[in-house]
Amino acid sequence: MSAFYREKVLSVRHWTDTLFSFRATRDSGFRFQNGQFAMIGLEVEGRPLLRAYSMASANHEEELEFFSIKVPNGPLTSKLQKIREGDEILVGRKATGTLITDNLIPGKRLLLLSTGTGLAPFASLIKDPDVYERYETIVLVHGCRQVSELAYGEDLVATLRDDELFGPLLSEKLMYYPTVTREPFRNRGRITDLISSEQLFNDIHQSPLNIDTDRIMMCGSPGMLEELKVMFESGGFIEGSGNKPGHFVIEKAFVER
Ligand SMILES: Cc1cc2nc3c(=O)[nH]c(=O)nc-3n(C[C@H](O)[C@H](O)[C@H](O)COP(=O)(O)OP(=O)(O)OC[C@H]3O[C@@H](n4cnc5c(N)ncnc54)[C@H](O)[C@@H]3O)c2cc1C
Repeated sequence: MSAFYREKVLSVRHWTDTLFSFRATRDSGFRFQNGQFAMIGLEVEGRPLLRAYSMASANHEEELEFFSIKVPNGPLTSKLQKIREGDEILVGRKATGTLITDNLIPGKRLLLLSTGTGLAPFASLIKDPDVYERYETIVLVHGCRQVSELAYGEDLVATLRDDELFGPLLSEKLMYYPTVTREPFRNRGRITDLISSEQLFNDIHQSPLNIDTDRIMMCGSPGMLEELKVMFESGGFIEGSGNKPGHFVIEKAFVER
């Protein structure tokens, strides 16, 4: 048995000159938990060229969705950004990752903190009805440099708000907070600053960070994650993992090479 499923690209959407998303067929044997990632890629000169990608679709969906960067001269994404409907992609059989609800101890408010393509695992999680059952409030924060880079997230949230099943859940429980660092926008600033200054909580009319009720998932640049981890740990928050749930969990949105 091959280590990969061979899936067909169903649609591709380019959001900016550095971001795109695509949907593909999903083998009925491919199982994952919302928030996880798998190795995906292309066959290049007869060999698999793979990178880690979070599933942006939820596990109840029939199709797979991914949200991708276009790295200039990146071995995979310089090719992947050219895929079209009907092309073949490889999807590794094994999904894994720490951004799953079972890795957190029970709480009342779930903070999903992301930058860039770090939004992808949360796109999956906000389509999971179980997340809305576990938490009273879900705060989705997406930080980017430019306003245009927020488009995928804005479209996702708008589509879910119009959905028959998710619309009412989102109105009741989801607070979406896009923020930008390099252009004028209604919310501005880095996630670390927005949390330490409590501006985030003031803006959404919510109580400040509270270890008794807040649980946190983060996915973004390695630098941002390191800063947030130090900040949360200094407040007594403990990192969770597969064998020991905690107050927060972390996944890198990419690795610096
Ligand atoms: C757990 C995990 C999950 C990931 N999920 C996704 C995902 O859902 N979507 C996605 O686009 N990428 C994701 N990545 C990154 C992905 O694995 C690749 O690095 C990316 O597709 C670029 O591949 P490449 O071969 O073109 O360039 P690479 O050689 O892999 O990367 C070259 C450089 O580009 C930069 N870079 C790579 N990926 C990103 C990114 N996503 N955002 C900003 N800078 C980046 C880094 O500086 C990196 O050193 C994930 C990585 C990890 C570890």
